[in-house]
Amino acid sequence: MSGFEGSFLGAGDKISPQAIMECKICWSPYDPAEGDEYRQVEPGTAFADLPDDWSCPNCDAPKEQFMVLEDPGAEEVREAAEIASKVESLVADFTEVWHAKMRDVPLVNKALRVEAVGFQRRDGKIIGVLVSPWFMNLILLPDAEEDWSGLTAGDKETVGFPSGDYEFIHNTREMTGGYKACSLFSPMGDFTRQKDATDVARAVLVALYDEAHRADTDRAAEIRAAREAEVEAEAEENAPSALEDAPSRRAVISGGLAREERST
Ligand code: FE
Repeated sequence: MSGFEGSFLGAGDKISPQAIMECKICWSPYDPAEGDEYRQVEPGTAFADLPDDWSCPNCDAPKEQFMVLEDPGAEEVREAAEIASKVESLVADFTEVWHAKMRDVPLVNKALRVEAVGFQRRDGKIIGVLVSPWFMNLILLPDAEEDWSGLTAGDKETVGFPSGDYEFIHNTREMTGGYKACSLFSPMGDFTRQKDATDVARAVLVALYDEAHRADTDRAAEIRAAREAEVEAEAEENAPSALEDAPSRRAVISGGLAREERST
């Protein structure tokens, strides 16, 4: 793929920082590798980061008159947009489940909300963590070449990561389509704030790719146990009574709608 057609029109999120732009009045290029000596713009300055009043060094046409000449980073930008759109659907799906079905369920943690954390492509997989008021799951989403629409809810699959092998459960949702989920926490009573949950989600994503953690044991359970200990230590500091009647831990996958997987 070689960039975008048409004018720039201020859509800075659609071109990559490496995009070479061209004035459509006089055909002068702006190359971020060179910057703009005439207006003292440092080399390495992306077109999107040029001041709003920057204009063509040759004909003074405004920024809006520039179009993409060549964008070496276009594929990355396209892929990031594609992942963002899938993650948006995932969040929308589970936000709807939250409002429609889960709000009045006793085990939910109303201090939390549905939020996607750290979704990106890594080693050929689109992976991230979905935090919600009633679970925290590792989630795998299909990339553009994969069709997961035929996944059977409840099927299990072992997926390998540098830190070990993890069991994911297949599922589908209306907006998201097919996805695979590995339960990290459920319910979410140990988290007092959204930020506590998202911090743990980020830590899990780091640990997942850490080969130093590899062992012939159930790595998901170990990461979960380590993070639980961390959260509990913090919770004890902040609110000594918070853990007294924590419900027994069960892997409630997929918004409590699919079958429950008991962790034994
Ligand atoms: Fe120009």
